[in-house]
Amino acid sequence: VKGYEGAKLAVLGLGRSGLATARAVRAGGAEALCWDDNPAAREAAEAEGFTCRDLHKPGAFDDVAALITSPGIPHLYPKPNPVIRAAMEAGVPVDNDIGLFFRSFADADWQMHDQPPRVVAVTGSNGKSTTVALLHHILQEAGRESQLAGNIGRGVLDIDPPGEGGVVVLELSSYQTELARALTPDVAVFTNLSPDHLDRHGGMGGYFAAKRRLFAEGGPDRAVIGIDEDEGLFLAGQLSEGASDDRVIRISAARKLTGAGWQVFARKGFLSEYRKGRQAASIDLREMTGLPGAHNHQNACAAYAAARTLGLAPRVIGDAMATFPGLPHRSQTIAEAAGVRYVNDSKATNLDSAVKALSAFKNIRWICGGLEKDGGLEALKGQTGNVQKAYVIGREAAGFALQLDVEAEVCTTMAAAVERAMAEAQAGDTVLLAPAAASFDQYDNFEQRGEDFIAEVKKRLG
Ligand code: ADP
Repeated sequence: VKGYEGAKLAVLGLGRSGLATARAVRAGGAEALCWDDNPAAREAAEAEGFTCRDLHKPGAFDDVAALITSPGIPHLYPKPNPVIRAAMEAGVPVDNDIGLFFRSFADADWQMHDQPPRVVAVTGSNGKSTTVALLHHILQEAGRESQLAGNIGRGVLDIDPPGEGGVVVLELSSYQTELARALTPDVAVFTNLSPDHLDRHGGMGGYFAAKRRLFAEGGPDRAVIGIDEDEGLFLAGQLSEGASDDRVIRISAARKLTGAGWQVFARKGFLSEYRKGRQAASIDLREMTGLPGAHNHQNACAAYAAARTLGLAPRVIGDAMATFPGLPHRSQTIAEAAGVRYVNDSKATNLDSAVKALSAFKNIRWICGGLEKDGGLEALKGQTGNVQKAYVIGREAAGFALQLDVEAEVCTTMAAAVERAMAEAQAGDTVLLAPAAASFDQYDNFEQRGEDFIAEVKKRLG
């Protein structure tokens, strides 16, 4: 962390990223004053020699240069956080680890290289993790140094200084982009937009605004924008105004793009790149087992386009994509037995991601349910054409099942759902976990839910 030598920084939230922030603050010659409402988290910080200060106390910000918060802490909606509010009232700047990272990165010694390192930042509602993991894989296969950080991989303040020509690939959630005081990636990627986390952003407008900050005035040299929703389409239009032809790459997994700009789209299993109205490359995605379904083809377009802005050749990118293993809990085939395929998409915590999973497979025995997202299940209506039957889990399984427009059995537990789906599955079917709901009613997180699914399937397959 640069620019705060000798100053005091308040650090709110002492989870993994909060502690990493405190360490980086200390390493940068500033003092971290830590706080977390959870006493156990404070003890962990004290055990590392950090000073804790109760930031709820009046005057807590009198001698503080900035407040650094964790992305997990809602700051304004559904209700203002009292500590962040106090900092705002005291006129103290509020930032997060992403903002600190970009401030440090801009004037770090790393920039002294002949080929300074580049930062690619990816945001969007769905597909961020897959896109950054794929881009990271492509860069590594191409022999370029790549470091994966942010919402996936390491905390941004934990990365090693990148070497000559190195790339930092960041996954940024709306929680992270919302508050960062500096957001200056070289390449910014916007995958797509669908409703999620609306309670925390005060609605769809606030949610889009949080993501859009990555593309603010004086923003990235290059922008890769998914234009399958109107928000992306408008963003791409505004960013290209008065800019050079190659500032914006538009991507789509829904249609063939036309026009003179730089475009990458996927259709019928083929990815195409067009530049100045001429086809520059075509890649067959159909056999790529790590990237099943149109939604993954959108991610492939995003990663491809970002890799192109970093100077990689189409052939190199295509070859690397073919060896991408995919990410756990995202359209992950975990077993095949007696002609039945078992797919773990536990990460489908919102409706759009579940809808995408439902369109990527046929003859689906669909395990769904859990903690319903704001806005209900309306968006699932008419999307269950590939589903033979739903097996509903979750504490509110009965209520969930009632809202589906497909035959649904209330199973409540994962064990029962797997049992029933397996009993009824025929050769050619896919048993798919794609919950369309958060996991917190029954699990700590989506990973644990996915592991439970895998265990229940493997146990029965022997
Ligand atoms: P994120 O990091 O944005 O949550 P992930 O790559 O982890 O994205 O995928 C989240 C969920 O969304 C998974 O269920 C995955 O199968 C699905 N998904 C992945 N890519 C897309 C996409 N481009 N559009 C919609 N859903 C997607």
